[in-house]
Amino acid sequence: MLSVQDQIVFITGASSGIGAACAKIFAGAGAKLILAARRWERLQNLADSLNKEFATDIHLLQLDVRDAKAVESAISNLPSAWANIDILINNAGLSRGLDKLHQGSFQDWEEMIDTNIKGLLYLTRHIVPGMVERDRGHVVNIGSIAGHQTYPGGNVYCGTKAAVKAISEGLKQDLLGTPIRVTSVDPGMVETEFSEVRFHGDTQRATTVYQGVTPLTADDVADVVFFCVTRPAHVNINQVILMPVDQA
Ligand code: NDP
Repeated sequence: MLSVQDQIVFITGASSGIGAACAKIFAGAGAKLILAARRWERLQNLADSLNKEFATDIHLLQLDVRDAKAVESAISNLPSAWANIDILINNAGLSRGLDKLHQGSFQDWEEMIDTNIKGLLYLTRHIVPGMVERDRGHVVNIGSIAGHQTYPGGNVYCGTKAAVKAISEGLKQDLLGTPIRVTSVDPGMVETEFSEVRFHGDTQRATTVYQGVTPLTADDVADVVFFCVTRPAHVNINQVILMPVDQA
């Protein structure tokens, strides 16, 4: 098993759900963390609790991944001690609505496309060159089962996650000949704030999504991410699909 002790791990969407769970598992293994999201207070609370529990070295970034200039500036202005990123976890993402395509909202579409696809691309574009230069690194993209199968009303969200799948596969091809690894971790239903965000804060509607299914937890997904990153250096796990036992 590869150690992540003192490795610099950059996690987008670290303020809740899968991103926060990844922060915890990597902190427990002695990694240094760059945690990025828009909700500053959430990031600070997470950093405080990881600091208390694991004395983790943490750098926080308030960052909207949709903002190409902000991403560029955030990466190029990292303090030198934080500049050599070893592991990038492209996790920030969201779904909006469950509308039929011909009834969908442009604003919802743009939010999903800009976050799930363009945000992931911006981070990758600015962080991977440093990995190539140093001849080391691992990019983990959080995709979804939605990138493999489409469900009613999932049209645009599924499209963004199909794009993440293609981008992960493409990046793997682009990095052949280097030791940099690329993994796509594609979960089924996970109980996080995801459903609430999807329905614009309608908690009641959000809980109906999980009826009849025992969803995965954010920790289940973080475990898989950690497993992929800690395989021996010659092993690249290209893609993992993990599903609740009772989800079709
Ligand atoms: P959460 O809603 O709990 O977390 C989403 C995270 O993304 C938050 O930390 C949020 O932070 C961040 N985020 C959203 N938009 C932006 C933005 N513009 N800039 C920066 N950060 C942003 O949901 P999950 O943990 O479930 O989602 C994490 C990933 O897992 C997503 O990519 C999602 O598509 C994927 N996924 C989730 C599944 C599920 O059932 N939950 C299933 C399959 C995949 P903030 O709002 O503070 O910016």
